[in-house]
Amino acid sequence: MGMKSLVIDGSQGEGGGQVLRSSLALSIVTGTPFRIVDIRAGRKKPGLMRQHLTSVRAARDVCKAEVRGDAIGSTEVTFSPGKIQAGDYRFSIGTAGSTTLVFQTVLPALMLADGPSTLALEGGTHNPFAPPFDFLIKTFLPLLEKMGPVVRATLKCPGFYPAGGGQFTVQIEPTATLNTVEMISRGEVTRRAATATVANLPREIAEREIKVVRRKLGWPDDCLQVREVRDTPGPGNIVTLEVETPELCEVFTGFGERGRAAEAVATQAVQQCQRYLKCGAPVGEYLADQILLPMAIAGPGAFHTVGLSRHTSTHIELVKTFLGCQIKTEDMGRDGAIVRIA
Ligand code: AMP
Repeated sequence: MGMKSLVIDGSQGEGGGQVLRSSLALSIVTGTPFRIVDIRAGRKKPGLMRQHLTSVRAARDVCKAEVRGDAIGSTEVTFSPGKIQAGDYRFSIGTAGSTTLVFQTVLPALMLADGPSTLALEGGTHNPFAPPFDFLIKTFLPLLEKMGPVVRATLKCPGFYPAGGGQFTVQIEPTATLNTVEMISRGEVTRRAATATVANLPREIAEREIKVVRRKLGWPDDCLQVREVRDTPGPGNIVTLEVETPELCEVFTGFGERGRAAEAVATQAVQQCQRYLKCGAPVGEYLADQILLPMAIAGPGAFHTVGLSRHTSTHIELVKTFLGCQIKTEDMGRDGAIVRIA
C-alpha cells in the first residue's frame, strides 16, 4: 500500500466495461489504487450498469478494498485495494448481465491468493458480447491452468440473454507464481465439433443451424450435434464451433435472438471459424484480449493472433499502465498479428 494512485480514462480506446474490469483486476494484483473517470462515456447508457457494479463490488470483496462511486449510472469510481482474501464468495448480478465477465474480474486476484477459493456466480452465462460459458471452460481456463493455478468451473444452470437466471460455480487452487506462455505456431487440427443448442425452443431451429454448418464448413456428421436444454428460465439459442489443435481449443459462437434467423446465427459462428482456419494463428480475436492480462502478470511472453481488435489494443495500453511492462505488436494484415510482452 501507499502506492501512487493512477487516474484511468474510462472512455479510452474501446471505452467499454473492459477498461473498468481490467483496471480492477490489475489494481488488486499490483496493490495499486486508482480512480477511473468517464466510465463507458460513449455508450447509450453511460456509467455503471448492473453487471459493472457487480464487478466493482466483487473486486472490493476479494481484497477488502475501499471504494467510492459504486452506484448504478456512476461514471467515476475510486478503488483502493487491500490484501487478497481467499474464501467462499457468491456474486449475483440480478439480471442477465454476464457472469463470466464478473468472474474474470476477480480471477487474477484469487488465482494468486494464499489459499483456495470457491465462487458461485448468478446471472447470464451465454450473453452476446461476452465470453460464453463454453468458451470459458474449453478455451480460456485450460490455457490459464497451463500457467499454474487449477480453476474448475461447473455449469449448474445456463442463463441465456435476455432472461438470464443461470448459475455456475468455480473452485480455484491458486499458484505462487505464474508460468509464462508462448503461443506462436498452430499445429494440425485434431478435433472439430459443432453444437447447436436450443433452450425452450423448437428443435428444428438447431437442426437448421447444423445444416448451415455442414454446408459451409463441410464437417462430417459425427462432428455435428443438436442439444436441447430445458433447465433454464428463458428461451435461448447458440451455435458453438470448437476447433482443437495441440496448443488449445478455440470456441466460436453465434448467438440467437428474437427476430434473428437461425441461418444468420449459424453464419456468425461459421465466419469466425473460417477466418481462424484460414489464418495460421493459434489465438482467436476474443481470446487475444482476454489472455493478455494473465500473460502480462506472468511476465515475458508472446502470442500470434488472427487480428488485433480494439479491445486488445485498449487492453495493451491499460496493462502497460498498471504493470509497467513493454508490449509490442506486429501487424501482418491477413496473417494476423504478433503480440510480445517484454
Ligand atoms: P466489453 O465489451 O468491454 O464488455 O468486453 C467484452 C469481453 O467479452 C471481451 O473481453 C471480449 O473478448 C469478450 N467476448 C465478446 N464476445 C465473445 C465471444 N463470442 N467469445 C468469447 N469472448 C467474447
